[in-house]
Amino acid sequence: MDYESLLQAGSMMGSGGLIVMDENACMVDMARFFLDFTRDESCGKCTPCRIGTKRMLEILDRITAGEGHEGDIDALLTLAHHIKSTSLCGLGQSAPNPVLSMLKQFRSEYEAHIHAKRCPAGVCQALLNFNIIPEKCRGCGLCARVCPTAAIKGKPKELYRIERQKCVKCGACLEKCPFGAVVRA
Ligand code: SF4
Ligand code: SF4
Ligand code: SF4
Repeated sequence: MDYESLLQAGSMMGSGGLIVMDENACMVDMARFFLDFTRDESCGKCTPCRIGTKRMLEILDRITAGEGHEGDIDALLTLAHHIKSTSLCGLGQSAPNPVLSMLKQFRSEYEAHIHAKRCPAGVCQALLNFNIIPEKCRGCGLCARVCPTAAIKGKPKELYRIERQKCVKCGACLEKCPFGAVVRA
């Protein structure tokens, strides 16, 4: 790994960190994380970096909250190119890079968040749904006992069900079920 090979891969040598992620990392959430950092670090001297990173972060916040809409990806791309080409120093010039490269490699994840209101990696809390697989449920009732909002209904030895309106997506049922019958989708 050296300066030239990273440049060839469309990346750059940073301050020494390398993060390895698997399919459990959400690419929209990761882009949001990196942009939150650069937004904080911006000294504020020039407008594209100071305001542009803020606007990009607002869009990413909306997308991960399930409120993304048509045009968000185009808006991110437009903002990213303006910020890169008009910021004064390297921080602003590289701040949109995570969004640009993630959009290039994982655009379908962004589209799933915006159009299907789904987080493929199961990370974005607002987009999660918990379901019980009927074939796996043994009716033990453990999930219903740990649910903080009484969102799970059922009778012993019969199929239990989750009432979506009451579910606060805490994940306790998934952790508790001894038969792997609760899934996050
Ligand atoms: S691009 Fe550099 S100089 Fe301009 S606001 Fe960002 S950190 Fe400050
Ligand atoms: S804990 Fe699992 S098996 Fe038991 S009732 Fe809940 S979903 Fe069904
Ligand atoms: S995720 Fe939490 S709130 Fe939702 S059904 Fe499971 S235990 Fe109840």
